[in-house]
Amino acid sequence: ENAKVEMNAGGFEKFLIENHLHKAIENNELILYFQPQINLSSNKVLSFEALIRWNHPDFGLISPGDFIPIAEETGLILPIGDWVLKEACLKMREWQNAGYSPVRVAVNLSAGQFLQNDFVHKVKNILGETLIDPACLELEITENMVMHDVNQAIKSLMELKKLGVQISIDDFGTGYSSLNYLKEFPIDTLKIDRSFICDLDTNSSSVALTRAITNLAHDLNLKVVAEGVENLEQLTIVKQQSCDAVQGYYFSKPIDDTNVLQFLKKEHNK
Ligand code: C2E
Ligand code: CA
Ligand code: CA
Ligand code: CA
Repeated sequence: ENAKVEMNAGGFEKFLIENHLHKAIENNELILYFQPQINLSSNKVLSFEALIRWNHPDFGLISPGDFIPIAEETGLILPIGDWVLKEACLKMREWQNAGYSPVRVAVNLSAGQFLQNDFVHKVKNILGETLIDPACLELEITENMVMHDVNQAIKSLMELKKLGVQISIDDFGTGYSSLNYLKEFPIDTLKIDRSFICDLDTNSSSVALTRAITNLAHDLNLKVVAEGVENLEQLTIVKQQSCDAVQGYYFSKPIDDTNVLQFLKKEHNK
């Protein structure tokens, strides 16, 4: 991921990004990287989170923070979101065809994408076309996305659950929402935001908050993933607190699909 310089979007770059983004899909410039989530009871990979990058011929690898907000403003997030879903399922199909047992992939959704009328239909079609078990697809939504239109969100989530896909709340603890929705929404997993994890080794408030979130989630029969675990101290604390899984640089940065195959090969031989 660090092989190429990541660009920061200033004003001029933003203008360039906007002008080039609509061509990025047809020019095959978008790629998915994957970051493993490690199950703490088995020490094996639980799933891979798909993280988009834009491999621009002149600017190099552009990170999502520099173009997803622009894609959301311009509506390009809809075709990009469709592409991400399809590509994630195609990669799962490739890995299964290579002989590895099915591994789950988590896909990040944007509000505009999730609130489309035909979103559930799209998901169903892509799973059907790629012959992927719905249980292998995890959709990451945020608190703000569901609060935007609560009734529509509940309706979509119910249909997605019926289809058999997994639902996670991403960046948990950072959004503007009441805890009330946790009992209304059919979700499977809370992903504790990195901001609570990054200072676990030095900040007792973060320790208290991650413990409280983990206990709350478990009482509601939800799984808990700690995001952004970078060192052994943080890992030790979230293990003590009975988090179910971790994701972060301590285990692996996001990797490209070739490295995913290497990763699966190693796991297979463990
Ligand atoms: P996110 O969903 O919260 O993804 C986690 C981000 O944290 C990723 O940044 C990942 O590389 C980074 N990360 C993981 N472990 C660590 C760690 O231990 N330390 C630190 N400092 N960072 C870590 P990335 O790939 O730059 O993605 C940024 C955001 O862009 C994502 O945040 C997500 O909101 C958005 N995004 C990425 N891919 C997609 C996509 O396909 N669709 C949509 N709508 N948004 C996406
Ligand atoms: Ca995410
Ligand atoms: Ca996150
Ligand atoms: Ca985030």
